Amino acid sequence: MSGFVLIRGGRVIDPANGMDATGDVLLEDGIIRAVGRPDVPSGAKVLEADGLVVAPGLVDMHVHLREPGFEYKETIAGGTLAAAAGGVTTVACMPNTRPVNDDPSITGYILQKALLEGIVNVAPIGAVTKGLEGRELTEMGLLMRAGCVAFSDDGRPVADSGLMRRALDYSRAFGALIIQHAEEPSLSAGGCMHEGVVSSRLGLPGLPAAAESVMVDRDIRLVELTGGRYHVAHISVAGAVEAVARARARGLPVSCEVAPHHFSLTDEAVVGYDTDAKMSPPLRSVEDRNALLEGLARGVITVIATDHAPHDSDSKRVEFCHASNGVVGLETMLPVSLELVRDGVMTWMDCLRAMTVAPARLLGLDRGRGTLSPGSVADLVLFDPEAVWVVDAARLHGTSKNTCFHGRRVRGRVKKTLVAGRIVFDDDL
Ligand SMILES: [Zn+2]
Repeated sequence: MSGFVLIRGGRVIDPANGMDATGDVLLEDGIIRAVGRPDVPSGAKVLEADGLVVAPGLVDMHVHLREPGFEYKETIAGGTLAAAAGGVTTVACMPNTRPVNDDPSITGYILQKALLEGIVNVAPIGAVTKGLEGRELTEMGLLMRAGCVAFSDDGRPVADSGLMRRALDYSRAFGALIIQHAEEPSLSAGGCMHEGVVSSRLGLPGLPAAAESVMVDRDIRLVELTGGRYHVAHISVAGAVEAVARARARGLPVSCEVAPHHFSLTDEAVVGYDTDAKMSPPLRSVEDRNALLEGLARGVITVIATDHAPHDSDSKRVEFCHASNGVVGLETMLPVSLELVRDGVMTWMDCLRAMTVAPARLLGLDRGRGTLSPGSVADLVLFDPEAVWVVDAARLHGTSKNTCFHGRRVRGRVKKTLVAGRIVFDDDL
């Protein structure tokens, strides 16, 4: 869409600028020109936003797009379509593809494919170690130059302490963020759900909360040693939240994200052996969930990210312990997160901050992603905060439909998603 576009009369919420007020947003050639009550050039195309919230497009810093290598689970085209339908305008994609994104040529391939077939912004995350094998560090500098925005071996932890120390040390030279899938393998081995009362009742082998908190504790010691920037992916247990809170209180460069399934569900969802309730880390106890909510309320957890992990039905239609880990989340992120606002856990502003400017800043995204500041790229979401709908797996836009929210009644529906001023999703069409 070229020329002027006026988004008129919405409730404009822009956490980066502390704005929450009824007003207009004026775009010109894909850039935000003004917010509030701007003079409207004649000939501007008008999008009515009466009754809608107008916010920066969501930034999801933890997504598995599965391409290259696992196109039967998801593709860059399908994954970015799901993102657009969920109001997400930037996805950071994890490197556990085949081949692994541990080389600038793979990064280049992903970016090229995203340019040709993607409909939202794709920001690749490079591997910390070659082949995700936990033995040898990748060339982080070259990967960043190729377009990687952070580093992770997600799906697996960086388990070796010496290697993690070197990764944090090395990453400092580039100001790079190291994202850890925090799991101590010797404690989690063999477990397929959270270890607790429910796993005993179901007769399934559990993996203890300590598997995560032990690793986060260790990593924070290594952050003290190195000064590297460290981020805990999909935090899920009370002990890890406490550790991050202590580290942040001491001013260490430590942050964390939580996935909607972890703050909205518990291990009770596994009763019935539904493999769409199987993910890594697993759904945790009520006490852990409460600690996550408190972490969000207190600002210890600053980012909401989905860990969107599409799987084909063959990978899920097997015995619980043999099923692949992971659920899709891009299309349910916004309404499930808005439950935090309705339940009084977070304000509108803080909730949207955790899905916009907070992850954008951690990843150092350029051109003002995650904000409506004039001069920024016009990535926006328009959503009806009151619209009630029921999640139906069959109606999701992505290739795989493995949601743990099937049948959930949610409130808040994306009406339009814009990337660089262009409508990439329209609920009315
Ligand atoms: Zn992970």
